[in-house]
Amino acid sequence: MKTLDSYNFSGKKAIIRVDFNVPLNDQFEITDETRINAVIPTVKKILSDGGSAILMSHLGRPKGEVNEKFSLKHIVKRLSEVFEQEVKFANDCIGQEAKDLATSLQNGELLLLENLRFYNEETKGDEDFAKKLAGLGADVYVNDAFGTAHRAHASTAIIAKFFTDKVAGKVMQAELDNAKKVLENGESPFTSIVGGAKISDKILIIEKLLDKADNLIIGGGMSYTFVKALGGEIGESICENDKLDLALEILEKAKEKGVNLVLPDDTLCGNDFSNDSDTKLVKRGQIPAGWEGMDIGPETITKFSEIIKDSKTVLWNGPMGVSEFSKFAEGTMSIAHAVKTATENGAFSLIGGGDSAAAINNLGFGNDVSYVSTGGGALLEYMEGKVLPGVAALED
Ligand code: AMP
Repeated sequence: MKTLDSYNFSGKKAIIRVDFNVPLNDQFEITDETRINAVIPTVKKILSDGGSAILMSHLGRPKGEVNEKFSLKHIVKRLSEVFEQEVKFANDCIGQEAKDLATSLQNGELLLLENLRFYNEETKGDEDFAKKLAGLGADVYVNDAFGTAHRAHASTAIIAKFFTDKVAGKVMQAELDNAKKVLENGESPFTSIVGGAKISDKILIIEKLLDKADNLIIGGGMSYTFVKALGGEIGESICENDKLDLALEILEKAKEKGVNLVLPDDTLCGNDFSNDSDTKLVKRGQIPAGWEGMDIGPETITKFSEIIKDSKTVLWNGPMGVSEFSKFAEGTMSIAHAVKTATENGAFSLIGGGDSAAAINNLGFGNDVSYVSTGGGALLEYMEGKVLPGVAALED
């Protein structure tokens, strides 16, 4: 796979798949610019080499229809400020206007195409659509959208077959390098923290981690399936009743492999799935009827934090509770603090997207951990050992 730094973009027109799927408020202002900031190094390298760049992205889920609400035109002004130069805009990602703008693009200039997902062909991975994007006249294809690399969409994978020169952007490269660093060279003690709603979503990564990690901490909604499987009372807590045997199998495998699998010892419960719920603190397996586990309790926070702080490698994916409700966010926030401390103590820490990344970023710890992934789903699939179409397309 060609890296961005090994390629000279002088006089070349690059078409770059970026991830500008940013959150917008009612006034169409960007409320989190993380994804835009992430691609600055890639764009700057191309322009400073003396090349030009056509940027393409999706925004939201317009489901194949033109929808003003999801227009990328809303971000053009801010992009021009961020890149400190004019960003031209094509009102359609394919067609004559896009072609004319792309053809007349001079070295050092930037062009943004309208939302790719205004066409169903994008997510379907339609070859003709990919060919039209490739036909805008770029000399080289760059993919810097790691977050969609696990999808075989027209712009993330299929388009690559129309280019001889295809290059991984800096975000893509960093994501792959950091994931490899953890999986292939993770120093011991290696602690993995897995949370979130369901075991079934994370079973492959859990199995993979049983071969890699020294400590496997399980928190969040999925922990209640384990507790129930062990005979505990979980009240109305989220539980996958068809995964009880699987939970026991995982516990057994952990024992066989000498992995310290750690479950919560206490739980903060609510009697309503809302931030206004009453709360009750109970020991593991003692949740009464009418109550559900919504966060890890203080004893668990202390136990998990001690293990994390003594680790040399930390991989974290998934919240410890319903962290979108402030009343039940303390467990997740405390884990973020422990990961920060571990990093200060010399650990390598990788935060795997989604709610865990949001917790780290909301606390302002983005620079205090080793790497915050931009792609939750893509990172998990990569770590599970799956081939990501967006990565494979660059390797061809
Ligand atoms: P995931 O996308 O698998 O990382 O899961 C994130 C989701 O898990 C969030 O929306 C949380 O609200 C949810 N979650 C975490 N802990 C619990 C819990 N104890 N009960 C219900 N949902 C939970």
